[in-house]
Amino acid sequence: MSQDDTNNTNGLEDILNEAASHSPQSAAVPTAPQPQTQVRKGNEVFSGNQPEPALSPQPDTNKQDLGFDIPIDSVPLPSAGLIYPVGHPFHLAKAAEYTAMTAKEEDILMSPALIKRGTVISELIKSSLVNKKVDVSTLLSGDQQALMLGIRMSGYGNVYEPQFNCPSCEAKNTVQIDLSEFEIKSLQIEPIEPGRNLFRFDLPRSKKTIIFKFLTVAEEEKAVKEAEMKKKRGFLKDNLVTTQLLNSIVAVDGDQNRGNIAKFVSNMLARDSMELRKYILKNQPSVETKFEFMCNFCDYAEKVDMPMTLEFFWPGSSDA
Ligand SMILES: [Zn+2]
Repeated sequence: MSQDDTNNTNGLEDILNEAASHSPQSAAVPTAPQPQTQVRKGNEVFSGNQPEPALSPQPDTNKQDLGFDIPIDSVPLPSAGLIYPVGHPFHLAKAAEYTAMTAKEEDILMSPALIKRGTVISELIKSSLVNKKVDVSTLLSGDQQALMLGIRMSGYGNVYEPQFNCPSCEAKNTVQIDLSEFEIKSLQIEPIEPGRNLFRFDLPRSKKTIIFKFLTVAEEEKAVKEAEMKKKRGFLKDNLVTTQLLNSIVAVDGDQNRGNIAKFVSNMLARDSMELRKYILKNQPSVETKFEFMCNFCDYAEKVDMPMTLEFFWPGSSDA
């Protein structure tokens, strides 16, 4: 799937030139109104009584099509829609509406064909979204993550009890996670133009200007597959880092030639590479899915990433 490659090329040259000449504000594309940068702090996200979230600019007209009452809920998008281009259903959308899980979604979760194709999650999200025009593969993974959490809670509640192997003693623990306590890490840096998934970073050592993008769900999957393939063919182990960096970088000092960028990435100074990766990671819109883990078998206690096991969408499947 390479539709993103084509999405982002239109007029990119101009933007990059603008960025290179240190006047990113002057890009003259009179599109949607300038979004206010709204600072979302702390955990007002899944914790229920948040103030009415601003909904997508397109009022949803699908409500009446549903025929009967399936509750509609909404979840804030970590990207606040700021990186989706004009015309994308989530352009400047601060939140996404979805319907609560029904038997239809449970069928999707159990479809052997979809499981085999690895498309269960995107089909589930597609089925749940109120706005049917959204192509799930174009979403940032952080936005997808927020939707997955919201949809899961609508179906099975906040409590998630996966098995988790202690990183220290390796004993298997059953943990209890309250999904509603996760915090949204919303986009805090400005794209070089509203509605464009393009950001600027100046490398500290080489002083080169990087334009990068956050990867979509489809691009991230592609990067993982590419790294696996390279690994199989006997390339270096740390290829995932290089591949992800390579996929994130759109231009180096205005040069968009993929071959040149690949050469640049493989010869990048360690400090530049580290600082760029840190910056991308730090600013990536996402949901912080860490929880406090305390081992029942040793004294290990640490904040760790939530394991994504079968239990997430199939609660009780282990004791069935
Ligand atoms: Zn332990």
